[in-house]
Amino acid sequence: MAEPLSFGTLRAILTNVFGQLPDTRRGENTQYTVCEAALGAFGVFFMQSPSFLAYQRDMQRRKGCNNAQSLFGVAHIPSDPQIRNLLDPIAPLHLGAGFWTILERLMEDKALAASFDFDGGWLCSLDGTQYFGSATIHCVHCTVTQRGEKTHYAHTVLIPVLAKPGKTEVLVLEPEFITPQDGADRQDCERNAARRWVIRNATHFTGRRVTILADDLHCNQPFCELLLDQHLDFIMTCKPDSHPTLYEEVALLTKLGAVSQREERVWSGQGHQHWTYRFVEHVPLREPPQALYVNWVELTIDREATGEVLYHNAFVTNHALTEHTIRSTVTAGRARWKVENEGHNVLKNHGYHLEHNYGHGQQYLSRVLVMLALLAFLCHTVLQLHDRAYQRLRAELGTRRTFFNDIRALTRYLFFASWEHLIAFMIAGLDMAPD
Ligand SMILES: [Zn+2]
Repeated sequence: MAEPLSFGTLRAILTNVFGQLPDTRRGENTQYTVCEAALGAFGVFFMQSPSFLAYQRDMQRRKGCNNAQSLFGVAHIPSDPQIRNLLDPIAPLHLGAGFWTILERLMEDKALAASFDFDGGWLCSLDGTQYFGSATIHCVHCTVTQRGEKTHYAHTVLIPVLAKPGKTEVLVLEPEFITPQDGADRQDCERNAARRWVIRNATHFTGRRVTILADDLHCNQPFCELLLDQHLDFIMTCKPDSHPTLYEEVALLTKLGAVSQREERVWSGQGHQHWTYRFVEHVPLREPPQALYVNWVELTIDREATGEVLYHNAFVTNHALTEHTIRSTVTAGRARWKVENEGHNVLKNHGYHLEHNYGHGQQYLSRVLVMLALLAFLCHTVLQLHDRAYQRLRAELGTRRTFFNDIRALTRYLFFASWEHLIAFMIAGLDMAPD
């Protein structure tokens, strides 16, 4: 039986990863370690509190102890400029091991690994997100675009997540940063980042069936071939504008009666819907010769009473398409996940606050902060999946906002000897029945 992934275990994994971060300083001014700076910034994201470290410095002055030390193991809390200087030179690649180690540990729990299983494998969704944009602040890693007279600076990251239709929790994996060297336009940039991520990380999935889910942007022959080379499956959105050859073939095969059709009547709760699947195997993704042949499925949903089209989309895949598999293929294809809830919040709101605290950095700072924010999001997900006390408390408090408001306020005013003490204090305070 694997040891449960408690907060303490997660902290130990991250302390180990942060402890191996390179320290480029020479000699002087080594009062604080890079590890402490990373743990401190991680704490800010984990608590979703931009002021967390300021409050803990204050508590240290007043009480002689603080929660950054007791919860996150930050022996001496560096100042904001010190954190900036310590983290700015760290290439984000050095933090990748945190994601994979946590995933490996999580998957030692066979029941949990099985709970992410969909149709005999895992689904991994790839999605690009802009996490920084400015007309003035910039660094050497910004993607620069001209909008008329105005220059816009942005940072974009491709965030892969393991997810399953109908399951709330998603497991965020090591992200891939989109760089200005990736290409001339936004689409090239995201495509190249996706290629790089697959080449770097496919070995983490060895021995498992993993299906990559991506949008039309990634639905091209070089990327699909790369996935097949790496023993990965795919289900991708496939639009007519970007795949004329494939759609000509589908039209031709439709005339010949070679495209299968399956219709279903589905009760939506408000009324009946009419679901029409059309599918065919072995169509060319691009112009022959040397075209990759893929399987194509389309779903149209209309309202039975009016005929109004409610949904229409099509996907290509290397999975076999039969009357029995079309539903699960389309369900997977339709459910591409954006990192929402805490993850979204961390990146969109608190990430912004952090820019104010720490600035954009000269080298890697904003990327390091995104990595730490995503690791914090992953750790909350793991606790939600694995830690009974955490699950009960989150369920009792209802919204995520209440939970984070409460832990922010409590840790500002009170000292807790450990994370478990904080959670136990809240459970006791809420008069929740013993488990
Ligand atoms: Zn930049």
